[in-house]
Amino acid sequence: MRSNRIVFKLGGTIMLLFIMVLLPLGFVFNQIVSGFYYGQVREDIDHLSARYAQSIAESPDPMTIHMVEMMARFSEVKLYIVDDRGTIKARSNVLGLPKNAVSDQELSALSRGESIKKIDQDPASGNRFLVSGHPIFRGQDFYGGVYVLSSIDRIDQSLQIVRNLLILSGMGVFFLALGLTWVLSRKLSDPLIQMKRATRQIAKGDLSARVKVPSEDEIGALAQAINDMALDLQQTRTTQKEFFANVSHELRTPITYLEGYAKVLKEGLYQSEEEKEQYLEIIRHESKRLTRLVQDLSDLSKMESGQLELHFEWIDLAEVVQNAVRKTKFKAEEKDLELHVQIPDDLPAVYADGFRMEQIFINLLDNAIRYTETGSIGVQLNVDRDQVTIHIKDTGIGIPEEELPYLFERFYRVDKSRSRQYGGSGLGLAIVKQLVDLHGGRIEVSSQMGKGTRVTIILSFRHHPGGEEKHT
Ligand code: ATP
Ligand code: MG
Repeated sequence: MRSNRIVFKLGGTIMLLFIMVLLPLGFVFNQIVSGFYYGQVREDIDHLSARYAQSIAESPDPMTIHMVEMMARFSEVKLYIVDDRGTIKARSNVLGLPKNAVSDQELSALSRGESIKKIDQDPASGNRFLVSGHPIFRGQDFYGGVYVLSSIDRIDQSLQIVRNLLILSGMGVFFLALGLTWVLSRKLSDPLIQMKRATRQIAKGDLSARVKVPSEDEIGALAQAINDMALDLQQTRTTQKEFFANVSHELRTPITYLEGYAKVLKEGLYQSEEEKEQYLEIIRHESKRLTRLVQDLSDLSKMESGQLELHFEWIDLAEVVQNAVRKTKFKAEEKDLELHVQIPDDLPAVYADGFRMEQIFINLLDNAIRYTETGSIGVQLNVDRDQVTIHIKDTGIGIPEEELPYLFERFYRVDKSRSRQYGGSGLGLAIVKQLVDLHGGRIEVSSQMGKGTRVTIILSFRHHPGGEEKHT
């Protein structure tokens, strides 16, 4: 039941509101009905007493009075008739009236032609009455008055019946509303309880937990958001698993080499000094590879968590490109590849991080050289209004078109056998992409199998990230 608290809260509030409206409404309604009822009865007895007084006034003799008395008795009207001295002359359905039921004051009011309206109490029974008295006048002569009564208790009894009906229907409506509120609150709280269960399950690690989307309103949107979150977490977990598997695999390969050749050297299992040198060179090479791998991983993780700090300044892109070319040139020469660099004279300064820019070019040149067997590598810079475009072209093995969308993913290599041959770990382009993004630039790759690859970087030097604009 605890889990259904919202039902009580919501239900309680609605019911309280309901009572707050229903009670005053009932009270007002009761006032209106009783006011109307009393008014109606008073009007009736007023009317009657006036009519009887009128009838008697037409021939004010004992005979007429007797007739009026009989008529009243017949139609169960409570009435008494007094003469000009206040003495009761006739009565119908009225018992226990004192001899001088009409006070002198009243009598003089009647004699002035005024009618009487009052509430009287029967001293014997204690019953209360609404009383209406009318004077009997024939011309100027005053003959007395006719009083018609109506029992207040009778009115109250009738009113009580109306009141009971009112309370009964109020209670009916109340219970109906109570039922509806319960159903409504359950409809509201059930999906929330389900969502709570699902999020607990997700928090415990069961990422396959899903919630039924109950509607298209805010609750439905919340359920959808929970499902999306679970899916995101599931994907993140899969990516993470793949990432760690890749990392450990990439680390294991150089470590195995290091261990193996170190053991060979330690145990003197080599034939010549030349062979020993060879093994030492492998150890040096693999250590460098390991250092680079760790550095790449650290860069990537910093970039992805937004912790990589870039040092933006106005740099000469030509100088950066030349440096990168100088550092990679020997590899191209080793493979007898030509390396052409084309930089326009009017190249403007670019607001960027020089060190990271060099890292981008070294990675791209490294790929171009690594994946090209014969031919040439070309680096070309173009300026077009507020953009600098850098092309790095090769005449290498190329990349199949269907692989192009995945090139920038971490550890992605076009095919595993190729990577064994060339020895890359698939982090280079992921780093390049992140760095280009951080510089607010764009990178595109186009390639033809067997013919070559072209990587294009477009940098804007007027709208640079976070820096002031340089006027050239
Ligand atoms: P790393 O750069 O981390 O040492 P890598 O070169 O394998 O390893 P990336 O630079 O990310 O990784 O490149 C991803 C894959 O794209 C490479 O494995 C390679 O198959 C393919 N590739 C990249 N550049 C070229 C290119 N110029 N020509 C042909 N294939 C390329
Ligand atoms: Mg690479």
